[in-house]
Amino acid sequence: MLKQKSSIVTGSTSGIGLGIAHAFAAEGVDVMLNGFGNADEIEATRAEMERRYGVKVRYSAADMSQPEQIRAMANLAHAEFGKVDIVVNNAGIQFVAPIEEFPEAKWDAIVAINLSSAFHLIKAVVPGMKARRFGRIINVASAHGLTASPYKAAYVTAKHGLIGLSKTVAIEVAEFGITSNTICPGYVKTPLVEKQIADQARAHGISEADVVRDVMLVHQARKDFVGVDELAALAVFLASDAAASMTAAALAMDGGWTQH
Ligand code: NAD
Repeated sequence: MLKQKSSIVTGSTSGIGLGIAHAFAAEGVDVMLNGFGNADEIEATRAEMERRYGVKVRYSAADMSQPEQIRAMANLAHAEFGKVDIVVNNAGIQFVAPIEEFPEAKWDAIVAINLSSAFHLIKAVVPGMKARRFGRIINVASAHGLTASPYKAAYVTAKHGLIGLSKTVAIEVAEFGITSNTICPGYVKTPLVEKQIADQARAHGISEADVVRDVMLVHQARKDFVGVDELAALAVFLASDAAASMTAAALAMDGGWTQH
């Protein structure tokens, strides 16, 4: 369906980004992986994806808090693939603290990685997309882009901002065959969240099953985690021609959380 397209997926050495990268590659899309991790493991993943899917898979270690490195990653993708058709702004970090104790450095890092990185990458790829009259910008926000929770000031702010950026870009570039949308997942069982389950079970003195049901998924009516495969399938749809008219949307995939 997406053969001969090429993509950059930020934060794709783990979790949701890695799932989206696999789904794109399986559809015939060249993929620029990005994110932190063990260099040997990343290279093994990259080589295995190339072998399995028969597409070009490259890797950029660009730090999404550094605009120069983001621009260099976009240049590398253009050099390797000849074009960038799809970008997925997915890299993100979290930090939880009451507002009066929230460390300034954590605020700055979350806004830089979860929000400003998308601005810098979109800015770098839009000229080529406009010239070719095709582009798909997919931003991974969160249910926290649509609703707030306490102690997550920087994360909630950045994710709300990402939806605003996505909508603004969508309207600017709509007549060039470019769409920009935001995916807003509820809780997804990535390595990050698995660690939080164990930590919270210890902290609250309750079982891991109770943490999942009564703490994490308290607002998620479906009482189950969102699957990485479900989010990846949505990203593939958004990248396809079938989604040409879907733009400026903020799509909740959250088991009913934000409508609870
Ligand atoms: P994860 O920790 O498994 O993956 C995060 C990825 O971002 C990793 O590849 C990491 O190396 C990369 N990354 C972090 N800082 C970076 C930086 N400075 N530069 C480059 N890469 C960096 O997390 P995940 O759960 O897969 O989250 C992916 C996205 O989905 C995030 O934006 C997150 O906010 C969002 N999200 C996650 C959930 C959830 O429940 N897991 C829910 C809603 C939204």
